[in-house]
Amino acid sequence: MEVILCSITGFCSGVRNALNRTMDELKRHGAPVFILHDLVHNESVVNDLLSRGAKIVDEPEGLPPGATLIFSAHGVSEEVEARAKALPLNIVDATCPLVRKVQERGAELSEKGYVVLLFGKAGHREVEGILGRIHGEKHLLTNEEDARGFKLVPGRTYACISQTTMNSGVIAEMTAILREKIPGLVESASVCRATQKRQDAVRELASKCDLVLVAGSAHSSNTRRLCEIAVAQGARAELVSGPEAVTPELLRGAKHVGVTSGASAPDDLVHGILNAVTRIAASEP
Ligand code: SF4
Repeated sequence: MEVILCSITGFCSGVRNALNRTMDELKRHGAPVFILHDLVHNESVVNDLLSRGAKIVDEPEGLPPGATLIFSAHGVSEEVEARAKALPLNIVDATCPLVRKVQERGAELSEKGYVVLLFGKAGHREVEGILGRIHGEKHLLTNEEDARGFKLVPGRTYACISQTTMNSGVIAEMTAILREKIPGLVESASVCRATQKRQDAVRELASKCDLVLVAGSAHSSNTRRLCEIAVAQGARAELVSGPEAVTPELLRGAKHVGVTSGASAPDDLVHGILNAVTRIAASEP
């Protein structure tokens, strides 16, 4: 069995920045520091922060005066930000600058009078944050089906933007569908650079593998996209949360096994999984 590590794994810059800022706050003020929702979508990272004294909350209200509240890399809506800032809290905004760019682009297009079409996953924190910064008419389109079924209002102008971690192939499809029916569509939908590089790298990896293991959590959007891309490339893909999930049964029949990770999976998790695969490969007759 050949084992191949993807050319890009581990944290993206947005996740690393959010983690560093949280660790800085823990060092500076001591525990607890409060995080609004999961800082990143990875259980091992979140559990490590909890063990260091971070606490996850769902609302800014109800915290002790002077407490530190951290906004996650996914960003928050204008309304949530205003509520938090009205309280006597030390706010640390760890919104990824690339998510911030999409929030600003959505708001700007809306101010110019465009109906904003956001491509993304319903209920995702990043999507809620982006939608919550667009004051005018906006619609969430989750897939090609939604794009096909979208009904135009004559006389309105339209622009599309997207969640940063969508499948870039799906964005291209959705944009093409809308372009056909919306004259003058402003096309601003794209994934962030980190997501694009990871998707390109997994595409290349999957072309050499019959099985791709993607380290990460099931609720991480960018991680699930990597699995989809590997499958579209013709490989089997399995999302693995840790080395204990790597068993001889999981690897059975695979001759070329690729290992990659979502943007919120730490390096030690990736290497733990890689070592588990290598051990099983070495024990093969
Ligand atoms: S995936 Fe992209 S947008 Fe999201 S946190 Fe990472 S760098 Fe930022």
